[in-house]
Amino acid sequence: VIQICLPLNALGFVYREARDALVNAEKLFQLLREKPEIAEAPNMPALRVSRGEVVFDNVSFAYEPERPILHNVSFRIPPGGTVAVVGGSGSGKSTLARLLLRFYEVGSGSIQVDGQDIRKVSSASLREAIGVVPQEALLFNDTIGYNIGYGRKNATREQIVGAARAAHIHELIDSLPQKYETPVGERGVKLSGGERQRLALARAILKNPPLLIFDEATSALDTASEQAIQAELDALAVNRTTLVIAHRLSTVVDATEILVMDRGRIIERGTHAQLLQQNGAYARLWQLQQREDADQSRERMRAA
Ligand code: ATP
Repeated sequence: VIQICLPLNALGFVYREARDALVNAEKLFQLLREKPEIAEAPNMPALRVSRGEVVFDNVSFAYEPERPILHNVSFRIPPGGTVAVVGGSGSGKSTLARLLLRFYEVGSGSIQVDGQDIRKVSSASLREAIGVVPQEALLFNDTIGYNIGYGRKNATREQIVGAARAAHIHELIDSLPQKYETPVGERGVKLSGGERQRLALARAILKNPPLLIFDEATSALDTASEQAIQAELDALAVNRTTLVIAHRLSTVVDATEILVMDRGRIIERGTHAQLLQQNGAYARLWQLQQREDADQSRERMRAA
């Protein structure tokens, strides 16, 4: 029996590792509907994050050589600052995030974190430094506690609960009969879009990364849940260098800089106030969304 048990245990372990690797890759998106293609030389030095400055320096990129996607994109996220990217579907917003995570290599130009070209450090250390809050959090078929703790190796229950509190999901978890041992995922308790995102947020809080990528939800959340979770996201972004792929303009108002993308180019940039004053594409988008929001709340009032 012992002879059989041991390999089975080992298999269980391997299975968990393999499954996590799979879901982890999957979790990295949304941003990543495909596998990383970067071959890496062995013994690359680890990224050293000190201040947390991110620089895109004249970056051009194509998934396929005949179809350029990004054209000479340059921006800097100052340490602890936030750059928000807005623009139409397919304009290249998520591609920026994929490149920062080094799922693809830039075609020309470079991306630097604290002065280190990301091609010259190990991808593992790069991704270790970046927390990602995706549009739709993918959950492991495991317990809630495991799903949050996944953000950090060897996290204690106390740290997991602390992160859940900060993401305002602790009360809900505590009200479930099995609490943190409650299974989630396909075969477990069903969570709403907002709850899933809070879980992803708790995971990111626990990871405590110096850099953040936040891929804002488009439709997973209603406006009220979205506003509620925004406060926690803002708190997480304080003192962290953050790249926001923004779908709703209401969340970019406080960004250090807003980039407006169109077909792979930055067509406008500035703070919210500057862009409104320019009275260009951003100002038009803003007015449109204000109108939509007003319509939505009128509809809700009527329905209530
Ligand atoms: P959305 O707001 O709809 O998410 P986006 O601005 O994030 O759009 P990207 O996902 O960056 O847009 O895509 C930019 C362009 O690159 C699109 O035209 C898209 O079709 C193309 N693209 C994305 N991924 C790949 C890929 N793996 N291979 C080829 N083309 C791709």
